[in-house]
Amino acid sequence: MSALEPSLEGRFREGLFYPNEGHVEPRRVLPQLHAAIARAGGTIKFGSDVEADDLDGLVIDCRGLVARDREPTLRGVKGEMIIIETSEVELLRPVRLIHPRWPLYVIPRGDGRFMLGATSIESEDTGVSVRSALELLGAAYVVHPAFGEARIVEFGAGLRPAFPDNLPKIRIEQERITVNGLYRHGFLLAPALAELTLAYVARGEIDNEVMQCA
Ligand SMILES: Cc1cc2nc3c(=O)[nH]c(=O)nc-3n(C[C@H](O)[C@H](O)[C@H](O)COP(=O)(O)OP(=O)(O)OC[C@H]3O[C@@H](n4cnc5c(N)ncnc54)[C@H](O)[C@@H]3O)c2cc1C
Repeated sequence: MSALEPSLEGRFREGLFYPNEGHVEPRRVLPQLHAAIARAGGTIKFGSDVEADDLDGLVIDCRGLVARDREPTLRGVKGEMIIIETSEVELLRPVRLIHPRWPLYVIPRGDGRFMLGATSIESEDTGVSVRSALELLGAAYVVHPAFGEARIVEFGAGLRPAFPDNLPKIRIEQERITVNGLYRHGFLLAPALAELTLAYVARGEIDNEVMQCA
């Protein structure tokens, strides 16, 4: 462990290492994805609420939780996170605490910042509770006591759109395709769901695992 993460030397008896695991930082990757869409000729309109019924032709509806008007079984699962800052700890990769009650992680975000995440709570309010903050900060402290001196930069919470089985779905109804229910894994699953959606639109291919046709 000390060879992989020198800051954690002597802190833990055992750890699991996944050499092929990767991660993306949403706040850095999204502007790059927007630029890629623009280069490919697409247009993104921010701050405009589009109703699918107002649009002509094929509509791919990925409105997350807002799509409950058409997907009434969707629910929001709250996720909370905290960003802290310190120059006392250096991590080279996300470190996940294997703990029965707190399956939390610490992700290095560069410039001495770390994201502590993420809770998973069956609630649709978007505040960060004291209990969650204690758990997230406690997990960081367990990973390395020097996090105790870190500055808190940000608290945040969001709602993950989930179906009752927590699995993603692509629902096809004539000219409307709904892609939703990405739950805890939206960043991980989005490319695969986009490819499946494209394969349907371009070649009519149906994937029985995630697609439902009306
Ligand atoms: C704290 C936290 C940590 C997470 N960590 C991870 C992680 O490590 N890895 C991972 O893979 N996933 C993670 N997730 C889950 C991930 O964020 C979600 O799975 C993902 O955001 C779902 O993407 P989505 O596009 O389907 O829905 P959303 O992200 O909810 O996006 C829906 C979008 O549609 C827009 N919209 C709604 N109505 C309209 C309208 N009428 N017109 C136009 N736009 C509209 C909304 O403004 C919104 O931007 C995390 C979530 C949280 C909260």
